[in-house]
Amino acid sequence: MLIDCHCHLDLYPEPALVAASLREPCLVLSVTTTPSAWRGTFALGSRVTGVHTGLGLHPQLAEERAGEFALMESLVGAAEFLGEVGLDGSAELRKTRPHQERLFNSILDLATRAGGRVLSIHSRRAAEQVTSRLRAFPDAGTPILHWFSGNLKELRLAIEIGCWFSVGPAMLRSRRGRGLVEQMPRERVLPETDGPFALDVAGRPLHPTNAREVQAGVAELWGESVEVVADRMAKGASAIRTEMHEVGRA
Ligand code: MN
Repeated sequence: MLIDCHCHLDLYPEPALVAASLREPCLVLSVTTTPSAWRGTFALGSRVTGVHTGLGLHPQLAEERAGEFALMESLVGAAEFLGEVGLDGSAELRKTRPHQERLFNSILDLATRAGGRVLSIHSRRAAEQVTSRLRAFPDAGTPILHWFSGNLKELRLAIEIGCWFSVGPAMLRSRRGRGLVEQMPRERVLPETDGPFALDVAGRPLHPTNAREVQAGVAELWGESVEVVADRMAKGASAIRTEMHEVGRA
């Protein structure tokens, strides 16, 4: 089964072609970076039941698109999961930090009021702050930290509060990324691509089907067979799918 827990279908040069290539059975968490992109992206994924579209507002756009939070509030009831959301502590975004923090708090509060949501979370250079915010909103839902790049202490904090981790081929290529994956709880690791932003070895954007490489990469790292890893990831994906369906029934 294809599992890609974080990709940007709407940002490929030809989104319809990528969407048309996806087949059941799959679990694809198609994230968005602005609430205004949600309806169109939802339509893109609506042909395949395993494709779920996240309602997101990326931290890099926190200042520029702050006005779209009202739209996010009005759409949250229809959204099975939230993402891409989070915080980004990169130096070039320092001046937007107060906006980012205000927005992320509002989003976690919104998720709580909505009864909890699966959340696909960006935490680059902000892992400790992200976990501290998640601690403050324990009923916001199930956090999946995408492309986690914090240190081991931050990883332990994230594990402690029940975070899941989505890991992609690009992360598995770096020694540091592999070191983090070695320490992650195996039952809470799922594949992702972060396509089209993340690239393959040849510098081409990863396609959601490249997420299939993750099972083999992780199996080697953990000293397990690909079958054992694939089986565990399928169970994890099914747990995430169940949580999203519960939202639909609420
Ligand atoms: Mn992303």
